[in-house]
Amino acid sequence: MSSPSEIIRRADLLFRNVDKLEELTLSLLSNPKKKDTKDLFGNVLRSLDEIKIRKICGEVIYRAGLQGFPRVSEKKFAENTLLGKIDARGKNGIQLFQPSISLERKNSSKIHTYGECQCTLAAEGSLCPHIAALMIAWVRKPKEFEEDLESLKSKFEKTRQRVMVSLEELLHSVETSSSNEALDLLQKIYSNIRRWGNEIKDAGDRETSRELENYNPLREFSATINRISLAIIFAIDHKYKLNAIEIYNRATLTTLGKVLELFVENTRYDNKSSQTKNERKVPRQKTGRSWDMLIENFAKGC
Ligand SMILES: [Zn+2]
Repeated sequence: MSSPSEIIRRADLLFRNVDKLEELTLSLLSNPKKKDTKDLFGNVLRSLDEIKIRKICGEVIYRAGLQGFPRVSEKKFAENTLLGKIDARGKNGIQLFQPSISLERKNSSKIHTYGECQCTLAAEGSLCPHIAALMIAWVRKPKEFEEDLESLKSKFEKTRQRVMVSLEELLHSVETSSSNEALDLLQKIYSNIRRWGNEIKDAGDRETSRELENYNPLREFSATINRISLAIIFAIDHKYKLNAIEIYNRATLTTLGKVLELFVENTRYDNKSSQTKNERKVPRQKTGRSWDMLIENFAKGC
């Protein structure tokens, strides 16, 4: 028998991982400037200050960086890396440089830097005024830095993998759990799915300033939630023979029926008036009508 605390511990870990995934979903969907991003920075970036920059770059480079830092644009961070652009005088007149720097702490006192820039100084392996300007811009106005999209996406994927690992561990302890523990787990998963659903409800409609291309975090998050609920239902069904999978599949059919109904309702509005998406109401009633009738009515409407 698995100890009572084990299933609770594993369930809590799973819920924490999903909370984190939800946070990342919201970050990917919304403008991070409106959010408090403080806890997203890596430890080394968070502890960076101007005294350290001076020490890392040396006095001359630091002073040149001080002159250039107000011109740094497209400021981004990823974990312990800073990225940006800066117009500056290069060997061919005014040039656009794209400095970046990654910081790593080897021990408590020393910070290792991996800087890149297109200027001659950086090509010689030195930290340049553009990199210094980037670091100064960070220390003075960290809120102007947006999290790099690729870094967010990879964080999302890593967190999703952690969710899946903690799900598998939880399923393993379902096999050896008591019926009281299984009931408790079902209740908890029920209230958590309701909470996650509420928190991301409006996120899909939100205007996003981000270029996400074919990546849809809301779809990925919803798929993860579905997978968790299905896996837990399956595990408990397998153990207690509830025919729960049949109920699950029927519910999926009902959902699809509702979507079909919404589609018919909303496209009918499109034909008759110029109602916007937000003005449409989600029908509260159950899907009673048959699909055939819906499709027939839809065809008439067209
Ligand atoms: Zn440079």
